[in-house]
Amino acid sequence: MAEWLVSTDLDGTLLNHHSYAFEAVLPVVARLKEAGVPLLLNSSKTLAELRAWRETFHLSDPIIAENGGIVAQSTQSVRYLGTARTHILSLIHAWRAQKGWLFEGFADWTLEQVIEQTGLDPQAAQASMQRDVTEPIIWLGSPPGLVEFQAFLAQNQLQLQKGGRFYHVMAPHDKASALKQLQPDYPNRKILALGDGGNDRAMLAMADIAVVMPNAQGDYLQLEPQNNPQIIYHAPQQAPVGWAQAVSHFIFQEAL
Ligand SMILES: [Mg+2]
Repeated sequence: MAEWLVSTDLDGTLLNHHSYAFEAVLPVVARLKEAGVPLLLNSSKTLAELRAWRETFHLSDPIIAENGGIVAQSTQSVRYLGTARTHILSLIHAWRAQKGWLFEGFADWTLEQVIEQTGLDPQAAQASMQRDVTEPIIWLGSPPGLVEFQAFLAQNQLQLQKGGRFYHVMAPHDKASALKQLQPDYPNRKILALGDGGNDRAMLAMADIAVVMPNAQGDYLQLEPQNNPQIIYHAPQQAPVGWAQAVSHFIFQEAL
């Protein structure tokens, strides 16, 4: 049996997009742990949120938070690979005031508004507001304005990545660039990656097996075939059941 490493998105992939349900994955997560297969939570979520999920899943593997902007080996060792959010906010808020661009983000919202935007419970919403290197926003202006906004970001070594719910303003890192930093710790392991959104594209592209989960509309992210022999699998069922089925099949050779 091949030695595997699993890197997974959370929202809409491991957790149901609407209800955040995850119970169906628990037996499979336990089996991965038993088999010594590292399971890396690799998400746009914050370190505080992912630490809570790591506890829920009884995992001790590294965490990749805020779209590859933070790598946390353990509570003692945290590497910040992104640009400080305070810097990001000072730039985008100044442009908004000057240009009248219409967008809102986590920095503008109260706890109640974050709960409304995300559907998270108060404790999780609080953890989602503890951001270090990314700012999730919703664009309320025109599409050409968004293009102009992106050009300004690029001039300042920043970018916009599309997640399941928000655009994320951040430095040019992603889930794959952070995963590559951890890869030397797992020599000779093949990568099974699971995701559903645009911010999963690079991570899925570098995987030996890419499991694409259906998004909230039931559509699949389209991936370009890679050079390496790669399996691209469209999970027929949404999270969490689709995740459990795909991992059971590809890691434990169970029938789909
Ligand atoms: Mg997602």
